[in-house]
Amino acid sequence: MQYISTRNKENTSSASCAIAQGLARDGGLMTPAYIPHLPKNALEELCGMSYQQRAVYIMNLFLEEFSVNELAGFAAKAYGPDKFDTPAVAPVHTLENGLHCLELWHGPTCAFKDMALQMLPHLLTASLKKTEEEKTVCILVATSGDTGKGALEGFKDVENTRILVFYPKDGVAAIQELQMNTQEGGNVGVCSVYGNFDDAQTGVKKLFSDEQLRAELAQRGYFLSSANSINWGRVLPQIVYYVSAYCDMVRDGKIAMGAPINICVPTGNFGNILSAYYAGEMGVPVGKLICASNSNNVLTEFLSSGVYDRNRTFYNTMSPSMDILISSNLERLLYAINEDDEEVRGYMQQLSESGRYEVTEKAKNWITKRFFAGCCDDANTQRVIGQVYKKYNYLIDPHTAVAFDVVDQYRAQTGDAAPMLIVSTASPFKFCDNVLGALGQTEIAGGLDVLDQLTEVTGLTAPAPLAGLKNKAIRFDQSVEKDHMVDMVLGMLD
Ligand SMILES: *Cc1c(COP(=O)(O)O)cnc(C)c1O
Repeated sequence: MQYISTRNKENTSSASCAIAQGLARDGGLMTPAYIPHLPKNALEELCGMSYQQRAVYIMNLFLEEFSVNELAGFAAKAYGPDKFDTPAVAPVHTLENGLHCLELWHGPTCAFKDMALQMLPHLLTASLKKTEEEKTVCILVATSGDTGKGALEGFKDVENTRILVFYPKDGVAAIQELQMNTQEGGNVGVCSVYGNFDDAQTGVKKLFSDEQLRAELAQRGYFLSSANSINWGRVLPQIVYYVSAYCDMVRDGKIAMGAPINICVPTGNFGNILSAYYAGEMGVPVGKLICASNSNNVLTEFLSSGVYDRNRTFYNTMSPSMDILISSNLERLLYAINEDDEEVRGYMQQLSESGRYEVTEKAKNWITKRFFAGCCDDANTQRVIGQVYKKYNYLIDPHTAVAFDVVDQYRAQTGDAAPMLIVSTASPFKFCDNVLGALGQTEIAGGLDVLDQLTEVTGLTAPAPLAGLKNKAIRFDQSVEKDHMVDMVLGMLD
């Protein structure tokens, strides 16, 4: 299968080149030339498979250059019992008839990023071999929390890779910082940057465009790459869990084969919900896709009105992984509407020049037929965590709570009672403070004692990777000025 750039259809490459490259040279996103349709009876067949087997089956349709054996090896390593705390990997938890939750946080860092970042290193290293790249890849990441730890765990001790994560000194939650600073593995590095997330992100972007650094690293046998969600190698593994969830629901008698389901996704960079869209294109019976945002509601406005406008106030919310004003993966959806690369190029140019664009009337209709969008502020997020806990005895994190609230809005506005799959993107134990507050606790314990407090209040056990932080030694405690990040890179890759 060919992959093409969303900004220029003439710019094509193989799957392995698309994954090795990350971003197209013209700034577009490498995207499959077409979305393969599931063969007849494939869903029935998939119902009888394990998560790993389903992953091989789905990914193989997009990656002809990779053998089934190769993919099976990756899936065994990525989704094995040493990585995920349930053999189902991504289980569907049913709250009531017609209301289901897809839990994507059973992996090593307790957030949904693991679903793709456990697979990406295998896809990337194999792609480098296929493209005959002989240098060692060095992944640079700027993170506001979940991606950094997810990437560290994914790339830890993967041959021919190094990974270096930069996080803002004052911009991550205490548990997230500890997760990163105690990271194990011989090929990893972590460093904080004085300043906020923007400083860290701008610094990393500068490293990528530093020609002198590139030349020096090439001489030492390294080249730079990124693990960010625009890489096709991160979107593809996410399609798998939508197909898998549908099969689980059929297998367990929760829906009839062929019955459409609605899917609600707490959204930031638009990667997760885009994967749900692709699953629908492949033939999974998907009704409406419901995009849930927090107070940074640029997508709510876009999907309802066709106007994308990033010129607005940025809010720091209690669902920080959705605090984002430029949703990179939306570009792939814009391409899917008309498969018109010129149109996409125009929108992206307007976005970079004025921060705003408006799609055509035809595109608006296309979007509203498939998507519903809503948003939820922090006060409602906390209210919903409390309500869901009381009603179903089920504890959700703030990101997932945003989705629950938008499902209520959708059902109230449309009366659509089709089965709903809500995507749960993080363990509530990653955000103990706000979750405890939502449960009515007024005094919150310090440090890692919040984990015990949440256990006392709910009777639930903290996931092992978070509970285990107590016994882990700090390995990284260095901070740099943003202008000295290059020294960290050169120091690590000597
Ligand atoms: C990254 C993340 C999101 C947003 O996902 P996108 O693919 O960027 O839309 C939502 N919730 C959590 C917990 C995340 O870590």
